[in-house]
Amino acid sequence: MKWLLSAAVRQSSNALMITHADLSGEGPLIEFCNKALCDMTGYAEAELLGRSPRMLQGPLTNRKVLDELRACLETGRDFEGVALNYRKNGSTYWLEWNVSPVRDEQGAITHFVSVQRDISARVHAEQELKLLAQALHASNDAVLVTDREFAIVFVNAAFERMSGYSANELLGKTPMATLRSGAHEPAFYDRLNIALDKGEDFRSTFINRHKNGGEYYAEQSIAALRNAEGQLTHYVCIAKDISTMVQRENILKEQAHRDRLTGLLNRHAGESALQRFQVDAQDNQRPYSLVLCDVDFFKQINDRHGHPAGDHVLKLVANVLQESTGSMGEVVRWGGEEFLLIFGKADLSDVMNLAERIRTSVAACDDPAVGHFSISLGVARWLPGENAEDLLLRADCALYRAKHAGRNRVVLDERNA
Ligand code: GH3
Ligand code: MG
Ligand code: MG
Repeated sequence: MKWLLSAAVRQSSNALMITHADLSGEGPLIEFCNKALCDMTGYAEAELLGRSPRMLQGPLTNRKVLDELRACLETGRDFEGVALNYRKNGSTYWLEWNVSPVRDEQGAITHFVSVQRDISARVHAEQELKLLAQALHASNDAVLVTDREFAIVFVNAAFERMSGYSANELLGKTPMATLRSGAHEPAFYDRLNIALDKGEDFRSTFINRHKNGGEYYAEQSIAALRNAEGQLTHYVCIAKDISTMVQRENILKEQAHRDRLTGLLNRHAGESALQRFQVDAQDNQRPYSLVLCDVDFFKQINDRHGHPAGDHVLKLVANVLQESTGSMGEVVRWGGEEFLLIFGKADLSDVMNLAERIRTSVAACDDPAVGHFSISLGVARWLPGENAEDLLLRADCALYRAKHAGRNRVVLDERNA
C-alpha cells in the first residue's frame, strides 16, 4: 500500500511538493517533489530537495499572495492561490497551487503538501481575450456578437453609443427584438435570415431603431463564426453609423431638386415628375392636368422696381401656389417667371376651381414695394394617346390665350372644354 501511494504520487501528472513544517529561517524546506514538478520548474529533483520553494519566486511574484500563504502556513489553514513563478532558466509561468498541512497522530503539523498547476495557457488566453475586448471597446466601429440563436453575447462601447442601449440592456436579447425598425420591407429581413441560415456573409445598410425611438442608418456586415469543428457558433456584426452621411446626402438630393429662390421643385425635378404622371396615365389610363402660370407684365415690375423686387414677387407667387396646392399636386418653377402645377387625382373641375382661387389670391396681394400684380393661367388635361410634350403645348396655348384676352385670368384648352 505504501509502495502504491508512493508510485501514484511520483507518477501523478499534477506537480506535487512536500515541505517540512519548520517555518524558521529559510523554511519550510522541500522534502519531496515529483517528476511533474521537476518538468514544470526545469529543476532536477536534487536541485530542489533541501531548498526553500522561494527559489521559484521572483520580482514579479505577487507579494500579497505570498503573505497570504505565509499566514495560512503559520495558522495551519489551507491555502489556495495564483502567482507568477520562475523556472530554472528564468522564464515565468502562472502557477495555481494549494497547500494543506499534514498532521501527526497528536495533531501537530509535521509537513505541508502542495499540489501545483501551470495555468499559463489559461491566463494568457484570458489576457488575450481582455486585450481583444479592450481593443474592440476602443474601436469606433460598432461590434455586436450573438450566439447561433441570435442572442446578443457581446457589444462594444461604439455599439452602445450607436444604439443608445447599454450592454446590460442588450445582452441576452436578439437584435431583431431590440433594434428592428419599421423601415425595411419584410423581404429585407427574409434575405438576411436566408444568408445567416446558410452561414453566408450579409452586408447592407440597415435602418435600425435607436433607444430614443428615432431611426439611424448603419452600414452593417454580418459574418458567421465557426469553431474548430466547422460548426457555426456565433455571428459577428460590424457596423458603422452612417446617419450623418445619409442625412447630408438627403439634404443634397433635396437641394438638387429645389429652386434656390422659391424653394419649389426646379425645372429638372419638374420634368421628372411630369414623366412619372405621363407613364401612370399611359399605363393605367389615369389622366392628369397641367396648369401653366405666368406673371403678367413681369418685365415692367423688374424695370420699375428693380430685379430684387421682381425676385420678391416671384417668392410671393410661389408661396400662394404652394399653399393653395398643398398635397393635391406638384408645384414647379418651370422658368423665369413661369410656374407649372401638375395634378394627378383631381377632377378637372377641382383643378379649374383651384386655378381660379390661385388667380384671385395673387391678384389680392398688395406688396408695399410693388403694389398689385397678377398672373395668367392656362389649363389642359391629358387625353388618351397624348404625350407630355403635346399636353404641355396645349397648356401653353391656353396660357397664351389668357394673355391675349387681357391677362389675370384662367383659360382651359379648347379640347378639354
Ligand atoms: P407677359 O405679361 O406677357 O408675361 O409679359 P412679361 O413682361 O411678364 O413677359 P416677358 O417674358 O417679356 O418678361 C419676363 C421677364 O422676367 C424677363 C426677365 O428678365 C425676367 N426674369 C426672368 N427670370 C427672372 C428672375 O429670376 N428674377 C427676376 N427678377 N426677373 C426674372
Ligand atoms: Mg414668361
Ligand atoms: Mg410674364
